[in-house]
Order: sequence, then structure tokens, then C-alpha cells
Amino acid sequence: MTETTVGGFAALDLHPAVLSAIAAVGYEEPSPIQEQSIPVILAGHDMIGQAQTGTGKTAAFALPLLSRIDPARREPQVLILTPTRELALQVATACETYSTQMPGVKVVAVYGGAPMGPQLKALRQGAQIVVATPGRLCDHLRRDENLLTSVERLVLDEADEMLKLGFMEDIEVIFEALPESRQTVLFSATLPASIRAIAERHLKSPKHVKIAAKTQTVERIEQAHLMVHADQKPVSVLRLLEVEQFDALIAFVRTKQATLDIAELLERNGYRVSALNGDMPQAQRERVIESLKEGSLDIVVATDVAARGLDVPRITHVLNVDMPYDPESYVHRIGRTGRAGRTGRALLLVTPRERRMLQVIERVTGQKVGEIKLPDAETVLEARLQRLANALKPLLEGADAARGAVCAELCRRLDCTPEALAAALLAKQTQGQALDLEGVRREQPLTPAPLRERPTGERAERGERGDRGERSGEPRARRPMEPLAEGRVRCRTALGKRDGVAAKNLLGAIINEGKLAREAIGRIQVRETFSLVELPEEGLERLLGRLKETRVAGKALRLRRYHEE
Ligand code: AMP
Repeated sequence: MTETTVGGFAALDLHPAVLSAIAAVGYEEPSPIQEQSIPVILAGHDMIGQAQTGTGKTAAFALPLLSRIDPARREPQVLILTPTRELALQVATACETYSTQMPGVKVVAVYGGAPMGPQLKALRQGAQIVVATPGRLCDHLRRDENLLTSVERLVLDEADEMLKLGFMEDIEVIFEALPESRQTVLFSATLPASIRAIAERHLKSPKHVKIAAKTQTVERIEQAHLMVHADQKPVSVLRLLEVEQFDALIAFVRTKQATLDIAELLERNGYRVSALNGDMPQAQRERVIESLKEGSLDIVVATDVAARGLDVPRITHVLNVDMPYDPESYVHRIGRTGRAGRTGRALLLVTPRERRMLQVIERVTGQKVGEIKLPDAETVLEARLQRLANALKPLLEGADAARGAVCAELCRRLDCTPEALAAALLAKQTQGQALDLEGVRREQPLTPAPLRERPTGERAERGERGDRGERSGEPRARRPMEPLAEGRVRCRTALGKRDGVAAKNLLGAIINEGKLAREAIGRIQVRETFSLVELPEEGLERLLGRLKETRVAGKALRLRRYHEE
């Protein structure tokens, strides 16, 4: 992996193994909170970081802490406290992702609602990084008060949320069990008096890190946001593009992989589109921008880095598929439209956990970013008909009398009406696109090929955190999910990579014991702590019944229908 692929990260003195993990995940450069926090944490200072979800705060502490781990010492060195088990799992997955190139480094997640035995075993087997919710960690401390004596660095993640959930006392117990000499890093979206009091008592001359928020004006640009769940993003993007009247459009995503995924999705749906990311050689990037300028491309899907300084007057729309890290980069992004005094339109997809970031953006820009709804089938159909009419108008003008006569002749030969002839030609022109309400409603967007294994990494962390209570519900899938094909449902098993399960094992078990044809099984996604399998809805109960006793990798499969929302 060359240094250029990790851009600004290379200057931050992170461990080379961490750098190459970041490069594999596809981050192009540090987010503002990372740029500021990483040197402070690497230098060993205590720190208070004011940042909310979505700013890249997890990597802001995980990357420097991993860089300071000693893999040879098989005992807890870093403790990360989180308010919920969902966040604990998410942070643990992130730490695993960033330590893939560090053999011997182990991460354990310790949270309520799961048996204590395996957690304790993992702790005693020498995990260097412990990600825990305070309540459960205290339960462990009651059994073994020396559990944390080797910890050198502590992170309190979402400290304000921890206090809201009533973990104050537990946190105090944990502080008592940690060595005095430790380094302490506290992240919090807000800094109420209670948090400042904790910092006062337990942090030593902490450095403060906060992203400066300068007010910026974006008056020429009409802004709107759409609330979506992460797995609905591809469908939402397609629907929005159908109804928005754009000349050229730039879509922003967070990673190189996402530029490729979204560009592929749009290309399959007939758009003239290209990805634009830092992996592409400079000459190729320039060609993409040139094509956008002269009109042979209409959409570019870019990361922030790749789109820097891009000035194409044709751009009428900016579509923020992924949330920017901070209001400043939002302002930069949407400034790609409304060039040279024109007006522009900026759309922002917001997942439920990113609501707060939207509020911050509104505060900093001093403007309301109104909500729009996903266009319904009627609106999509109307937009399609209008586009067709626009495309056919110039053709009508070019049709001469001789061709009119040919039409009459063709109708005679084919024994059909002019309407039937026109409908047949239209069907060819529109290539099976639905042009009636029912058809639009039924339509499934053309998504990339099924069963495509994606690299693990940032996509695994992005997405919904779901319920916040520590003992509540199921952990949500943390990658954006492709829309399901018609007649399919997702099923979940608690077996994942950590159980030694691979997609082919699940496939084999379902085919053999479920008596299902290979073709009936859709995508299989194997995650660290669970897996998802797409199965036919029809006959699902019977199928799950047949699989009741099935074991995979020596463990009970227990496949259940998975309800995403
Ligand atoms: P967080 O604020 O930690 O919840 O992170 C939000 C999302 O940003 C996660 O999906 C990360 O994978 C992603 N992310 C963090 N840092 C970077 C980066 N430097 N470049 C691209 N994506 C990032």
C-alpha cells in the first residue's frame, strides 16, 4: 500500500499497520475531528473531544490508541466505554477493522443481555482492547476487581449519553478500578455541567478539541433533506433522480467503494455517470470532469477529496448521499452548484442517527433545510411521461410526410392501429420501463449483482445504530442493505465470522437441510457476530421449521425472520 492512498493520514504518525488498514477501508483523508484529535492522543495527553456521531469520532480515538498497543502483551490495555450495546458492537467492529493488519491484537465487546462467561473468557484470553457498556463491566468487576489494572488508556464515548442513561455511578466505580496513571479521552456531543465535573475530577490537564464552526452563507442554493434508513439509500437516490430536473449533478459519498457502488447502480439504471475518487489517476479524474463539463456525462459520484475545487457551471444539483463530517464540508459540497451567480439545488439524505448533524448544519448555515418526502409512484410516473414528451418533441418536428406514409403502410401490413404501432416503438425506446401506476409501484430498481461479497470495513460501521437501550432489541445490521428482490425476505442467525461461519457453510446447510434450490437463496452476508440470508417469503415458516435443528460450524443455526425497521 503506498502512502499516497492514505493521503493526509500518512502525516499523522500512525502505526504503519493502522495506515494500511485505513487504506484498505478506503478513507481518503482524516476528517477534521481526526486531524485534531489524533496528534493529541498519540502524544499521550488527556483530551475532551466535542463531536457527535457522523464526524468520524470513532476512528479519531481508535486509530491513535491502536497505534500505541503492544500486541505482545496479552492483557487489557485500552478500555472504551459506550452507552449502549449497539454502540459497543459498532466500536468493537471498527477497532477490528482498523487492526486487521496487526496480528495478535484482539478486541472484546462486553455488554448486557448476553452471557457473562464467554465475555470473561475473552477478557482473560488476552484481548488488548475492551469495548464495554458501564453496567455490564461493573458486573464483571464485582467478580474480579483486578480486571482493569493493566489498562493504560480509557475512552468515554458519547459521555453525555452515558450520563443520560444513568451510568454515573457505574462510571465512578470503573474509574476507581483503573490505574491512576492512565490516559483518559472523553468524547461528548454536548458538555453539560455534569460532564465538565467528571472531567474536572478524573482528567489531567485535558486538551480540548472541537471543530470550529464558522457561519457560512449559501443563499443561492435551495436546500432540502430526506429522512431515510441506510438500507433505503439506493432506492431513494434512484427515485429522487427521476423527479429532479437536473442538468448535471454531483453526488457525494464517504468512501471510494461507495463512489463505485453508487455509480454502478446509476449506470445500470441508464444514467451517464462516472465515479470520481482518489484512487483514480489524475489524468483520468481530469477526463471525468471534462466530460461532465462538455455534457457527455451527467452525474459524477465523488468523495470530498476528489471533488475539491471542482468548478462546473452545468451542475444544477448536489446530492449528499452520505452525510458530510461537519457543516464546513457541507457548505463546500453544496457550493459545487449555484456557480457563477446561478441558483442550485442541494439534497441531503439523513439517517435517523444523523438528525443531530442536520441541526448543526442548520445552525451554522443559519438556514432551514426543509424536509421532502420520497417521491410517490404518481410523481415518478408524471416525471417519466414529461421526460418522454420532451425527448419526442424534436423528433416529431423532424418527421416528414414520407415517413408518415410509411407508418400508414406498416399499419396496413401489420394489420394494426397507429396507436399499437406507436406503443410498440415506445416499448423499444423505453426498454421495459413501467409507464403505468401499478407498474411503477411494482418496479424494483436494478441493483448490483447479488451475492457480491464486499470488503469489510467502513461500510460495516455505517448505518443505523437502532434502539438505544442496552438490553433492548437486536443489534441492527451495520452495512447499508441492498433493496430486497420481490418475494424475498431477510433472515438472521446469530452465527457469524467469529463462530467460524462462511457464506458457503450457510448455503450448504440451507440447501441440504432446508431442501431448497440454490436459485431460491439470495444474498448471504456474513458479519462478525451475525449473518443475514435472503430467502423466499413463500413457505418461509415451513423452511424455518425444517432448519430448526440445523447446526453450522457445530452451533445451532436458529434462523429467524429479520425485521429491519
Ligand atoms: P462515527 O462518527 O465514528 O460514527 O463515523 C461515521 C462514519 O464515517 C463511519 O461509517 C466511518 O466508517 C466513516 N469514517 C470515519 N472516518 C472516515 C474517513 N477519514 N474517511 C471516510 N469515512 C470515514
